[in-house]
Amino acid sequence: MEICNACRYCEGYCAVFPAMELRRAFSDQDLNYLANLCHNCRGCYYACQYAPPHEFGINLPKVFAELRVQTYAQYAWPAPLARAFERNGVLVSLIAAFGVAAVLILTMLLQSSGVLYSAHVGPGAFYTVIPYPVMLVLSAITFVFALLAFAMGFRNFWRDTGGGPVDGRAIGRALHDVFTLRNLGGGGHGCNDLDESFSGARRWLHHAMFYGFLLCFAATCTASLYQDFLGMRPPYGWFSLPVVLGTAGGIGLLVGTVGLFGMKLIGDPAPTARRLLGMDVALLMLLAATSLTGLLLLALRATAAMGVLLAVHFGFVLALFLVLPYSKFVHGVYRSAALLRYAVEMTPSRASSSSSAAS
Ligand code: SF4
Ligand code: SF4
Repeated sequence: MEICNACRYCEGYCAVFPAMELRRAFSDQDLNYLANLCHNCRGCYYACQYAPPHEFGINLPKVFAELRVQTYAQYAWPAPLARAFERNGVLVSLIAAFGVAAVLILTMLLQSSGVLYSAHVGPGAFYTVIPYPVMLVLSAITFVFALLAFAMGFRNFWRDTGGGPVDGRAIGRALHDVFTLRNLGGGGHGCNDLDESFSGARRWLHHAMFYGFLLCFAATCTASLYQDFLGMRPPYGWFSLPVVLGTAGGIGLLVGTVGLFGMKLIGDPAPTARRLLGMDVALLMLLAATSLTGLLLLALRATAAMGVLLAVHFGFVLALFLVLPYSKFVHGVYRSAALLRYAVEMTPSRASSSSSAAS
């Protein structure tokens, strides 16, 4: 950072460099903040005259990626579960396998084969296989726990990197940066997704995954409204709101995760932390498996395959919510917190006082 602060060649690329320029010295907390502000676009690596083989060996995307994982463990809640970030790819894969196996075996044990392997149609068909109270309680426990862990992690990050009040303008600016992924734009010309050439592919694939996930969540919420307030039990028609939202979300999630996985396989490994690949791939595969089994369940819900597909999909969903706070998914939480801190720092009053302090 001290070399970059003297050089400043990359200051238009992303938020990291303007945030860096507000500082003369870099505490551990500053570095945690800057590492999470980095969107791993890799632009500064290919632009840098001090990148390897230069003796300075500047490789910000790689160093920041390694530091980010340390921050995930440092801010994790509850603290003893921070160890989940060690050998994370293996852990996420094991929990996913266990979640699917547990739901499948329990369904087979508790339901007769006549129920599990027969076609069920009409309102409440899914609940013939897995009773509604079981679905509701297990989903609610894992979902609420994941939300709580995210909120506590966000709070830990915010306090450690300086705390302080937040105004509506800063929140608006941060939300804009989160929802547009502005920092994956490389300052306007795109990212170095695969090598030194520029493209917007990673940004759009990330959008497909992110908005796909949100649409799937919206589908679940609207399905709950249909059931609990309108008294309409699933499965719903092809053109009903839950099915339209879920189909669009599932396709977006699948396209985004598979595309990002492909980019990781063929991209230049030099600016990446290869030892963290397992963590990335495990989450992408879990998200892809959840969306794929959801789409298959939708397509085959009127057939005898519905029972097994429902158990497998529900197992993936439970595993996903269990591991979300201890997987690569948390980068969204800490990156959002870093963007909020950046927005606070860049409001005119803060920026001018920080600049005069730096001067
Ligand atoms: S990454 Fe390299 S080129 Fe960019 S600001 Fe730092 S030292 Fe300068
Ligand atoms: S990799 Fe991209 S986002 Fe990260 S510091 Fe470099 S230019 Fe900024």
